[in-house]
Amino acid sequence: MGKVGLGLAVGWAAATCAIAAVIVGRRVRRRREWRRVMAVVEELEEACSTPVGRLRQVVDAMAVEMHAGLASEGGSKLKMLITFVDRLPNGSEKDTYYALDLGGTYFRVLRVQLGGDRSGILRHDVERQPIPQHLMTSTSEDLFDFIASSLQEFVQKEEGVSEASTVKKRELGFTFSFPVKQTSVSSGILIKWTKGFAIEDMVGRDVSECLQQAMSKKGLNMRVAALVNDTVGTMALGHYHDKDTVAAVIIGTGTNACYWERADAIIKCQGLLTTSGGMVINMEWGNFWSTHLPRTSYDIELDVDSPNPNDQGFEKMISGMYLGDIVRRVILRMSQEADIFGPVSPKLSEPFILRTPLMAAMHEDNSSDLREVARILNEVLGIPDVPLKVRKLVVKVCDVVTQRAARLAAAGTVGILKKIGRDGRGGVTSGRIKGGSHSKMRRTAVAIEGGLYTSYSMFREYMNEAMTEILGEDISPYVILKITEDGSGIGAALLAATYSSPGVANVQLL
Ligand code: ADP
Ligand code: MG
Repeated sequence: MGKVGLGLAVGWAAATCAIAAVIVGRRVRRRREWRRVMAVVEELEEACSTPVGRLRQVVDAMAVEMHAGLASEGGSKLKMLITFVDRLPNGSEKDTYYALDLGGTYFRVLRVQLGGDRSGILRHDVERQPIPQHLMTSTSEDLFDFIASSLQEFVQKEEGVSEASTVKKRELGFTFSFPVKQTSVSSGILIKWTKGFAIEDMVGRDVSECLQQAMSKKGLNMRVAALVNDTVGTMALGHYHDKDTVAAVIIGTGTNACYWERADAIIKCQGLLTTSGGMVINMEWGNFWSTHLPRTSYDIELDVDSPNPNDQGFEKMISGMYLGDIVRRVILRMSQEADIFGPVSPKLSEPFILRTPLMAAMHEDNSSDLREVARILNEVLGIPDVPLKVRKLVVKVCDVVTQRAARLAAAGTVGILKKIGRDGRGGVTSGRIKGGSHSKMRRTAVAIEGGLYTSYSMFREYMNEAMTEILGEDISPYVILKITEDGSGIGAALLAATYSSPGVANVQLL
């Protein structure tokens, strides 16, 4: 080989080495980046983990807080509000009633025809509309004028002109799903807004009165016969169909629960007299807090950025308003840690851009190449061409966040059952009926409603699975979570029926 040949060979070898070094360097860098991203996901998984032992601690904490909230006003983050609902519909209700369901993304107007004599609900008509965004932060007058107009249109359409002129005063059940201090079964004062609403002039005012005024202005002949929370409406419909219903849980835009309590256990209302000896308590469990809850840095940031920091801590880990945004925050962190998503998309910094139904669609993408995940990352979050391996990680993040939410919702539900002795632990007081030498567990139903539970099957499966895990194989067959579709609205109409009949004994606060 001549000098030139040698030079060429050396040059070739050097170039090959340089290329190899670049490839290896790139691979090493990619591997390092992948490890960093994996660390983000693993850290999330660890921080969100909810082994059954931890869930039982949440169960106990829920029961303890319920006691504290019943013992004194302000005794717990759980408000444990009295509802004045001391009787639940039983099938004897008859005639036509209206309902209005306001409390989240949509509002619904309903008309319910009841057969009486246990013949059930003959017919119900529902109309659903989104609440225009600007009305959520406007004035109470604007909001209620809009609602009264929609209600009037609905009534005119349902009754027709001929019927409308013959109708006497119509009775309405009003489902208003924000914390309210009830002053009677049909009136109450707004304590605070949640779920993105902020109409300052309404806080401290009587909610029924606001609606009643707007209806009068429109000349709509209708009376608010019952003002309830969505949980209470759901419980009413649950009980109408199944007498073993002892509680109701809502998991939609927000989350909340109510249950049937003995009047003498409501210590903060000494001298409370009810005809039935019991009353429905609206827990406002969205505000539940315990150090046993698995909280992450993402939850803390979401809370700080929210209009209600330090508030609704349980709700912010569970409900549909927030789950998508937790996932967005994790993807943003992953993207900042390494460039597996390419340059950080500015859309990732937009709060609430990833709505929970989209997150659920990614989670439930069954295609082998995760096509839906790719589409949503591209179209919603502005991240194109994400490799399959990374899409799988995104699905994992959705899974971790949803699983934690569903398992915490299950723990909260069992917490209620524990408080009223229906969790099957500790003998007769825990839901067992003595029968000879054997004791038999009492059947217990919990009415459940809300878009997150009813439309998101992975959430539902995780929640049901956790119920079984916490209660154990022996007890769980006796505890039934029953979907009560449109319960919050139909139930309010049922309660309007229950409380509109003359001679209904009123709750007394001595
Ligand atoms: P609201 O709570 O506003 O009264 P819903 O009970 O219908 O109304 O719940 C609506 C919420 O449920 C939405 O805001 C969304 O967070 C959640 N949701 C609805 N559909 C789905 C879905 N397919 N997957 C996951 N979450 C859903
Ligand atoms: Mg609702």
